[in-house]
Amino acid sequence: ASRPFLARNGLSETFIEPALTALAAAGATLRLHHALRRLSWNGAELSELHFDDGAVPLAAGDQVVLALPWAVTASLVPGIAAFPDSPIVNAHFRLSVTPAKPSPGGFLGLLGGTGQWLFLRGDVLSVTVSAAADLAERPADEVARLLWADAARALSLPGGPEAVRVIKEKRATIFHSPEMESRRPPPRRAANLVLAGDWTATGLPCTIEGALVSGAEAARQVLKI
Ligand SMILES: Cc1cc2nc3c(=O)[nH]c(=O)nc-3n(C[C@H](O)[C@H](O)[C@H](O)COP(=O)(O)OP(=O)(O)OC[C@H]3O[C@@H](n4cnc5c(N)ncnc54)[C@H](O)[C@@H]3O)c2cc1C
Repeated sequence: ASRPFLARNGLSETFIEPALTALAAAGATLRLHHALRRLSWNGAELSELHFDDGAVPLAAGDQVVLALPWAVTASLVPGIAAFPDSPIVNAHFRLSVTPAKPSPGGFLGLLGGTGQWLFLRGDVLSVTVSAAADLAERPADEVARLLWADAARALSLPGGPEAVRVIKEKRATIFHSPEMESRRPPPRRAANLVLAGDWTATGLPCTIEGALVSGAEAARQVLKI
């Protein structure tokens, strides 16, 4: 069983803007384009965060949450296991005719073809495939042909699309297997360091929901609640 959620207008309106508003209201300072480059340790505890424009020393009682992709975390924190990647492939088709929505939310699960989910927003139809290791290796025009065939069949679309864009995200998520599951680390890494991110041990696959669960757990760890 599942309970699907769909962002009504996009992820910015649903997640980013409310998060920025909440952070501003809480007095947080947001520094974009300010990559963490290195960590200094004092024994088993973090002592400094190094950015391009200088180091931030940690005081007694400070807590650090690193919510970074696994590969970046592994380059900064010793002992993080490596994970194989799993691609996601999306094809976006601009339609000349806007078909009826396939469901009230405008999305449809597909079985027995190449596409897995189909999303219709106005005159743009998107077909998505997760765990798409084989598909990601195929040329974009072949991917478009396969996914259009599924979409056209599912929605009885005549002709072809007006325009197509295929996006292959090769490092979309970690590859989920029983072995990889056992490598996902718990959040607490040191007395003053907590790890967060969809790839940590959330009990969920790498999804937005997993990232949210991880963020909430990191906050509980820091606040000791
Ligand atoms: C193509 C695609 C489609 C997807 N579709 C879905 C979907 O339909 N539903 C769903 O639930 N999930 C989907 N996902 C997965 C979802 O996007 C992730 O699970 C989620 O974004 C993970 O959040 P996160 O905060 O753990 O990591 P990220 O969102 O990866 O955030 C990590 C952040 O760390 C920053 N960063 C990296 N290095 C540094 C550094 N050195 N210093 C400071 N910051 C740094 C990055 O800029 C980034 O902002 C999709 C992913 C992809 C790629």
